[in-house]
Amino acid sequence: MDKLIFKAINDEYQRQQNHLELIASENFVSKEVLKAGGSIFTNKYAEGYPGKRYYGGCEFADVVEDLARERAKQLFNAKFANVQAHSGSQANMAAIRSLINHGEKILGMKLDSGGHLTHGYRLSFSGQDYQGVTYSVNKKTEEIDYEEVKKVALKEKPQLIIAGASAYAKIIDFKKFREIADLVGAYLLVDMAHIAGLIAGGMHPSPFPYADVVTSTTHKTLRGPRGGLILTNDEELAKKIDRNVFPGIQGGPLMHIIAAKAVSFYEALKPEFKEYQKQVVLNAKALAKALSDYGFRIVSGGTDNHLVLVDVYDNFKITGKEAEELLGEMNITINKNTIPFDQQKPFITSGMRLGTPAMTTRGFKEEEMKWVAKMIYEALILKQNVKQEIINKLKAYPIYEEVEK
Ligand SMILES: *Cc1c(COP(=O)(O)O)cnc(C)c1O
Repeated sequence: MDKLIFKAINDEYQRQQNHLELIASENFVSKEVLKAGGSIFTNKYAEGYPGKRYYGGCEFADVVEDLARERAKQLFNAKFANVQAHSGSQANMAAIRSLINHGEKILGMKLDSGGHLTHGYRLSFSGQDYQGVTYSVNKKTEEIDYEEVKKVALKEKPQLIIAGASAYAKIIDFKKFREIADLVGAYLLVDMAHIAGLIAGGMHPSPFPYADVVTSTTHKTLRGPRGGLILTNDEELAKKIDRNVFPGIQGGPLMHIIAAKAVSFYEALKPEFKEYQKQVVLNAKALAKALSDYGFRIVSGGTDNHLVLVDVYDNFKITGKEAEELLGEMNITINKNTIPFDQQKPFITSGMRLGTPAMTTRGFKEEEMKWVAKMIYEALILKQNVKQEIINKLKAYPIYEEVEK
């Protein structure tokens, strides 16, 4: 028995149980998703796609992948799905390679406005193999300014526009992005990694029929295993995407993870999932309101989705880095985050990003979110020790009733 690793797994179990999990990109999967993800499909090589494999013995792998693809298509109302991408970043890599040529131009949201590394940032493949240019949010509203996006698009003439973000609390208007893409003859890729669950649950408008390709992670609001997903309605693009995932950038698919994705899609198709997503948004609104009442400045004035971006520096002169450390000591897990036009360095930041998907899964409602805001205020501003109060409270909200660790 590997004592060191199994001790670390057990310690991690205790950490997850005893911490207020407010990282906007995290969630707690169901026991069935966990079980499929830890299943014997990890033993199986299945290079290729259902019915066209490069290995024998793939009949059950085919059952799993076919179900995963069918459910993904049904969930997001798309004609084609690729469920093999190992992560959101690899989904983006395969999608971008299917849409444009090496050296062509990508227009994406600026990182400090809430964009993602894979949307053209210079340290990512997307800014190294392609030319990345950016649009920012409006300085005053801190929301996407579609006139500004249009202006940059007309000036830069990108071959690809990416809509989607990692730290943006408002609804994204995909129709407007489509109009801008059409204006300059660009493809539109929607990266719904953060909001896929909200879209599946009807709490955010769908990127279809506007996007040429949609990419996602499966582990954020969608509440599946760690992984990627690519969707399209275009048959030619679908073929390119499959080829770009395998053999383009990956070898054998993670069949155990694809099984877990299929289970999570099955769960997301149930009516309860809509209720869950509704509560995620209600909780985010309640959290934003309560924090604002304590004097925190909420970026973009509030939230319409699952996350709340807080400017901790504005009123309290605390940096994002300090907030992350201070709250961490009190068992409140958040991440520091740049805010639009941040004056602090990316490793310091002026903001913190909070999300409600994980704690909503654990049963928190608006009342509990008010309590979360109180804990944050007491820990961060009043410098009180709230750790024991948090551990006690969380006893009533077990992450799993019982689980094999
Ligand atoms: C999280 C995220 C990704 C990347 O996902 P990984 O699985 O971490 O590679 C891509 N795009 C957006 C918008 C994200 O939020």
